[in-house]
Amino acid sequence: MRRPVLVLNSTYEPVNICSTRRAVVLLLKGRAELVDTNGGLLRSERTSIPVPSVVRLNSYVRLPRAESRRLSRRAVLARDGYRCQYCGSTQHLTVDHIVPRSRGGTTCWENVVTSCALCNVRKGACLPAEAGMSMSRRPRPPSPGDYVLASQRVVPDAWRPYFEFVTA
Ligand SMILES: [Zn+2]
Repeated sequence: MRRPVLVLNSTYEPVNICSTRRAVVLLLKGRAELVDTNGGLLRSERTSIPVPSVVRLNSYVRLPRAESRRLSRRAVLARDGYRCQYCGSTQHLTVDHIVPRSRGGTTCWENVVTSCALCNVRKGACLPAEAGMSMSRRPRPPSPGDYVLASQRVVPDAWRPYFEFVTA
């Protein structure tokens, strides 16, 4: 009962993670449908139901607009899965301005990425292309899924299809 369950919006976008107990309540109340199970069964006297691994809400939940999330070092690292977007390192992470501030780059979701200290130094005041570097993905405002992913040390395989970007 302690395994986390991925909760999807009615649009199949990850919303958050809840306990198995909470997911079962959502299922029994008809507020969510079972999408994937972890193979086990929960038994009561009268019935048994599969242990959920992924559930989907039956009605759409409005989430705060991602753009309105405060941009902070922590939030950028969480969005990027705590990995350098240039080389994949998880060590000595910093925030890099893609277009350097010295060249007019602003601090916005589209212009900041997680970078390890080495890549940050290597890139210096260059654009990534000038430094011969490329990013693993285009930065954007974070989605709720980024935070769901960042909160988990181990992401169950059954969850992976629901995340746009999964860092292996
Ligand atoms: Zn790096």
